[in-house]
Amino acid sequence: MPILVQKFGGTSVRDAICIKRVSKIAVDAQKQGFQVVVVVSAMGDTTDNLIDLARDVTTKTDPREMDLLLSTGEQISIPLVAMAIHDLGAKAISQTGLQVGILTEDRHGKARITEIRTDKLKKYLDDGNIVVIAGFQGISAATGEITTLGRGGSDTTAVALAVALGAERCDIYTDVDAVYTTDPEIVREASRLNAISYEEMLELASLGAQVLHPRSVEIAKNYKMPMRVRSSFKPNDQGTLVKGVGEMELNNPVSGVALDESQARVAIVGVPDKPGIAAKVFESLAKKNISVDMIVQSTSQDGLNEIAFTVDKDTLQDTKKIAEQIAVDIGAKKVTTDTNIAKVSIVGAGMIGRPGIAAGMFKALADSGVNIQMISTSEIKVSCVIDAKDGDKAVKAIHKAFELDKVSKETQRV
Ligand code: ADP
Ligand code: ASP
Ligand code: MG
Repeated sequence: MPILVQKFGGTSVRDAICIKRVSKIAVDAQKQGFQVVVVVSAMGDTTDNLIDLARDVTTKTDPREMDLLLSTGEQISIPLVAMAIHDLGAKAISQTGLQVGILTEDRHGKARITEIRTDKLKKYLDDGNIVVIAGFQGISAATGEITTLGRGGSDTTAVALAVALGAERCDIYTDVDAVYTTDPEIVREASRLNAISYEEMLELASLGAQVLHPRSVEIAKNYKMPMRVRSSFKPNDQGTLVKGVGEMELNNPVSGVALDESQARVAIVGVPDKPGIAAKVFESLAKKNISVDMIVQSTSQDGLNEIAFTVDKDTLQDTKKIAEQIAVDIGAKKVTTDTNIAKVSIVGAGMIGRPGIAAGMFKALADSGVNIQMISTSEIKVSCVIDAKDGDKAVKAIHKAFELDKVSKETQRV
């Protein structure tokens, strides 16, 4: 029997009515002949509320205790969904990450899944159960400690399970009915996409489009697992299919615009101009597990350099400490930080070999008076760091400049 994995996000299970609604979607899929695995997030804003609560009791949250705390959110949803399924006359069993055997790296707050045990899972499915699994959590293979996969990580639980079980597809049910050309909360005129390639979706997700967890798209891409983004409130709407770029017709150079407000800029100022300095800076950060995103080195008039880079705001305090120590070691003048930045990006597989796309983005920003602080490009994306206050304005201007509001039904990618 084919296997279908369905993931329901926080909004889709926010209350009893929603839980009953998603339970019916799972039972209907079983009636259509699928073995069904359901992955659920914590109800509504539970995870945010738990984080706020932790911050109310301590100034320095402990990563191990935070994982134990946050994993409870999903543990509440799973038995509720299982029992709602029982009420519809179907068999269901709920499982935490520990119970099912979702093994991860030994890292709190952002662990990667390393292995999923499927024996027990397959037995439950063969016995006619809908298996309801807690998203976002696992256990460290090394220590048995509870770990979490990073905010939004239930998407990754779902895709990893789909791959491990050889599922036919992984459906991600969320609070929007499709992937749009940009966040519809920022641009009301954003267009729906019927399909998007793994490559573009991975870039959009990594560049701040919250709709899918980047690691989920990466796994789907590596194992060619078809994914759909759809709404539990409109179960008959097919949403957006995420699939291989080879199967797509690329009509537009740009397929989407993303905004990321989670980064901060760090600059080491007055750096002596000699070989080995950049290596020293970034080796020290890598040793502390700090991921650096954009990097710009510029030479100022007195022959000294400035090395500027962006990091996640959560790692800013640690980054600043390390950078200040490095500045002393290499004889640099000082370290400055700026949390008031945003990164706006355009993504599109259709921009390969088409000149002028980056220029079009810069012009849209210039025309709306937005100053660019840093630029980085890859084959299918262009990103600019700008002032945080200009974020929404920049997205709107770029979206309009590339006429993404006019992606009509006929020209949508299929
Ligand atoms: P869930 O709780 O279901 O995992 P998320 O809040 O993580 O849902 O993701 C859905 C949100 O992603 C939407 O409400 C939307 O505001 C945001 N989003 C950002 N970029 C996009 C995009 N390009 N297309 C659709 N939604 C987007
Ligand atoms: N509940 C977690 C979060 O809010 C995981 C998820 O929803 O995907 O980030
Ligand atoms: Mg999410």
